[in-house]
Amino acid sequence: MKRYICILLLIFLLFGSTDVFAWGQKGHAIVAYVAEKHLTRKARKAVDEILEGKSMVYYASWLDNIQNSPYWKGGYDRTKTWHYYNVDEGYTPQTMPRNPKGDVLTALNMVIDSLENHQKELSDSVKFDYLCMLIHLVGDMHCPMHVGRLSDKGGNWLVIKWFGDKTNLHTLWDSKLVESVHAWSYTEWQHNLDRCTKAEFKEMSAGTPEDWLLETWKITVDIYANVKTDENYSYKYVYDYAPVVERQFLLAGYRLAALLNRIFG
Ligand SMILES: [Zn+2]
Repeated sequence: MKRYICILLLIFLLFGSTDVFAWGQKGHAIVAYVAEKHLTRKARKAVDEILEGKSMVYYASWLDNIQNSPYWKGGYDRTKTWHYYNVDEGYTPQTMPRNPKGDVLTALNMVIDSLENHQKELSDSVKFDYLCMLIHLVGDMHCPMHVGRLSDKGGNWLVIKWFGDKTNLHTLWDSKLVESVHAWSYTEWQHNLDRCTKAEFKEMSAGTPEDWLLETWKITVDIYANVKTDENYSYKYVYDYAPVVERQFLLAGYRLAALLNRIFG
């Protein structure tokens, strides 16, 4: 049995990390850590209890990992489309036909509603799943290429060069750009960015998941308008988009905190 688990773990390490629909782990850790810093005492206690003492950062990428783990196949397969929302050219998030298998907006609204209005009916394990999903999906919703076009699989088929190396637009925005903007740990990202006043926090964390998706999509439209296939991007791209990356992390963290404070506070 032990050997079997080791083989599964090896398969997962080799192939599981190539998930094409996720902020990188760093991005999710930053969002979760920023949010953790803004929880009310009551919300922190409830979150602690559900996560059995582990941090939100610890579970920030849980959904990416569990959906790719063959050990869990079946149970979490249905969540594979929950990380993104496609909007093709010529459409808006409102006019684009929805993915019948689900998307980040439907999934996020479902877990919010379940935790907020039906918590008493949920088993401990479902509560744990939904909280981990909430932590992850707020992050994904703020990643521009998670609201990318269906025609190029959210930028996965749009090949570009990054400092001379071949990559694609989705991977660039998930992780490569993040690492180029600042070579910081997730705690350093929080320390250096999370400096807003209470009034700014309130303003930035306002709105609904529908509003946040629309905001992210507007950024995605700008990214597509300025991208050329096979172009070699480097320092200028980092300079141009660093403020966008920074703001999206902060917005996602603040909004996640506000949601958790509303649900558990
Ligand atoms: Zn994801």
